[in-house]
Amino acid sequence: MLLTISTNHQPGTDLGFLLHKHTEKFQSINLSIGQAHIFYPEQSPEQTTVALLLDIDPIDMVKNRVRSGGGFSLAQYVNDRPYVASSFLSVAISKAFSTTMNGTCKAKPELVDTAMDFSVRISVVSAPRGGEILIRSLFEPLCYSVNIQRHTLDDQFVEWGDSRYFTLELSQNITLKELLSHLYVLIPALDQDKHYFVSQQEIDKLLKKGKGWLSQHPHKETITRRYLLNLRSLSYQALERLREENDTQEQEETQEEKVRQESLHQKRLKCVLKQLKESGAKRVLDLGCGEGKLIKLLLKEKQFTQIVGTDVCYTSLSRAKDRLYWNEMAPRQKERIDLFQGALTYKDKRLEGFDAAAIVEVIEHLEEDRLEAFERVVFEHAKPTTVILTTPNREFNSQFENMKTDSFRHTDHRFEWTRHEFETWAKKVAETFHYSVSFVPIGDEVEGVGAPSQMGVFRYAH
Ligand code: SAH
Repeated sequence: MLLTISTNHQPGTDLGFLLHKHTEKFQSINLSIGQAHIFYPEQSPEQTTVALLLDIDPIDMVKNRVRSGGGFSLAQYVNDRPYVASSFLSVAISKAFSTTMNGTCKAKPELVDTAMDFSVRISVVSAPRGGEILIRSLFEPLCYSVNIQRHTLDDQFVEWGDSRYFTLELSQNITLKELLSHLYVLIPALDQDKHYFVSQQEIDKLLKKGKGWLSQHPHKETITRRYLLNLRSLSYQALERLREENDTQEQEETQEEKVRQESLHQKRLKCVLKQLKESGAKRVLDLGCGEGKLIKLLLKEKQFTQIVGTDVCYTSLSRAKDRLYWNEMAPRQKERIDLFQGALTYKDKRLEGFDAAAIVEVIEHLEEDRLEAFERVVFEHAKPTTVILTTPNREFNSQFENMKTDSFRHTDHRFEWTRHEFETWAKKVAETFHYSVSFVPIGDEVEGVGAPSQMGVFRYAH
């Protein structure tokens, strides 16, 4: 069983600092049922990869009376355990990378909270019931891009059909600590063949590693039950504790910062709403709608007869549904709205034929080399008559007290543009796709640096 984690973060040796495992060394640790080896198969200026190879010994498993597969008499020796990512992987991760998971990095403490582009490859995971849908439902809400390849049972005998084994690839801009905690919990939740006796202690482990994200996961019940092997009393206790955690977490968010961000965001949304109203649009898109704050405002205006929100992230969409009281909504209101998951870098027929699209604080989340795909999806294929697009104004960052120079407002931002950069980009897009464009500042302007946010209003010029 092989897990690899790659990053383009520079310098590559930072990965070694974060994992407390030197990039030049090959290291092995003993597990109760074999060994785990940690090494770096790749170290180049473009990418660094760390590998965790599990070498599970079926004889050790028998000696240690580890439960396995079952079914036929040799099953205790001949089974899938050496090849499948299971709870053994979680044990190995927590043993090999415990300092990382605890958020300690003595040499370079700032790395602990630094989000990096990571891609993970696991060969293989097993998902007996639910297959690909189950795998996606666990990882996509945490905003991973998920790539899955299902393996056939045997290449020689195609008629035997598909196996329950998948190669799984995940990628995201995230901290390593969060990434490892996701794997630690979700891999055993996929693989139901637990090797240990599930006890009260497992609840503590689950809640510790799931802290800060599990309580908000839309499938927390499924994950908890599967992780605890469907033991009802344990799952019930764990879910109760997750609910409590959710409550306190909400109270802890710093009030002041929230108020400041919120008031700027409300201003921004009001500006967007005003533009949409003035455009005369009836059928509108909110692309990258996030938690549905704009949709909530749009719903109050009768002018908008059809409102479609899309986002790449399931978690955001389910929060949007909560925010809109989706389940209690009157059928007539519900008919006006549609929310669905989709990425703005892929052509999507469902986005065609609208009067207007709002794209509020979204483009700075895209990789710069994906911008061209985004431009074509929105301006060439979806082609709404009006496009209202906002993005932060980087020049204004100097006004934020606690912001370091050259950092971004959010860790997930891939770039932030000056007014000149934004206007140059927008004019090029307008010209290429036959739109006109004008610019509106958002928020109070400060001399020399402009307003906190900037808006481009595009109109299709037949
Ligand atoms: N427009 C919302 C949310 C802004 S946050 C608001 O103003 O409140 C940025 C949003 O863009 C996030 O919800 C993120 O999931 C979404 N996003 C990022 N990349 C995306 C992509 N490729 N396709 C669609 N949505 C994306």
